[in-house]
Amino acid sequence: MATVYFDEATRRFSKDDAPAVDRITLDIADGEFLVLVGPSGCGKSTTLRMLAGLEPIDGGRILVDGHDQKGVRPRDRDIAMVFQSYALYPNMSAAQNMAFALDNAKVSKAETKQRVAEAAKILELEPLLDRKPGQMSGGQRQRVAMGRAIVRNPKVFCMDEPLSNLDAKLRVSTRSQIAGLQRRLGITTVYVTHDQVEAMTMGHRVAVLRDGKLQQVDTPERLYDRPVNTFVASFIGSPAITLVESGVREGVASVHGLDVPLDRGLASRAGQRVVVGLRPESWHVAESPAAGSALPLTVELVESLGAESFVYGRPTGAPDAERVTVRLDKRTHLQVGDTVHVEPNRDELHLFDAASGERIE
Ligand code: ATP
Repeated sequence: MATVYFDEATRRFSKDDAPAVDRITLDIADGEFLVLVGPSGCGKSTTLRMLAGLEPIDGGRILVDGHDQKGVRPRDRDIAMVFQSYALYPNMSAAQNMAFALDNAKVSKAETKQRVAEAAKILELEPLLDRKPGQMSGGQRQRVAMGRAIVRNPKVFCMDEPLSNLDAKLRVSTRSQIAGLQRRLGITTVYVTHDQVEAMTMGHRVAVLRDGKLQQVDTPERLYDRPVNTFVASFIGSPAITLVESGVREGVASVHGLDVPLDRGLASRAGQRVVVGLRPESWHVAESPAAGSALPLTVELVESLGAESFVYGRPTGAPDAERVTVRLDKRTHLQVGDTVHVEPNRDELHLFDAASGERIE
């Protein structure tokens, strides 16, 4: 097991472009499951590949257990990588695929056999050990790829979108299997995904990247409850938070014309612009709306998920205003074109500076 420390790690593919990974500093604890998440092209895979030694590093350092990895070849790093494509050898059986790295590392035949048997048991692959990848389902191939990483008993697992080739249902069950397995084995893991639900459900902590820059590293709960900026606020959470820009006057901001008091010593911001954020569950339907206290929304879309519903709408008479998303904890008879009056839960709002996008405490 090991600690991993990214110390201003930087990767620049060309002199003219902005760095793909820009001075990332990240301290990963022994046994931690750290998820790197962010939109396509934000630098997740490059960061992971730098740790595995598959990508050079143009600035800063990466330390594993305190040792600078500069110049250490990938095969000498004691890091096992699980790829999105699984990268299995098609002409080898599941058992041979798992044993391959151990054979190369000159582990004895007896020990290799024992480690493969143990991994096969953990991953419920025992009946499939003689099959070749072409004779297995996507989920089974994925488990062989995991098995190949486990048998090496590495210091660190690096996983690059290992679930993205599975169908939605299998992805959900496999995600909890991998998280459970990681907790049991206690091997430090860096896991890349663009799926924020995967990130939130699997990681001890989640690192959000944008344009090669680290935005926030926090527990899933903290990321959701206290996003540091509007980017993190809108990236984490599904459906997304509603963000509305507003002026401030006398300690009050306005969400689509509805006054929301700012009781956090923000009077000094009078005349400034802020962004008010309200998550879907931070609204409720006003049963008997009083004038000025509730927002009339014209419903544009209703998503009924069985136990709960999401209603998307815009302020009545303001078709160009930002869309508001409201979660209802029961079924709704609302339909597109209806008007519903909603009120924000005024103590649940997030506030950001409109110019910088940074959170205002
Ligand atoms: P995705 O989720 O789409 O896989 P990502 O967050 O993993 O994206 P990276 O693959 O790390 O992103 O890429 C980060 C940036 O670096 C992108 O702008 C990409 O175009 C660029 N990049 C990646 N690999 C190379 C390369 N070999 N040569 C030049 N540019 C590259």
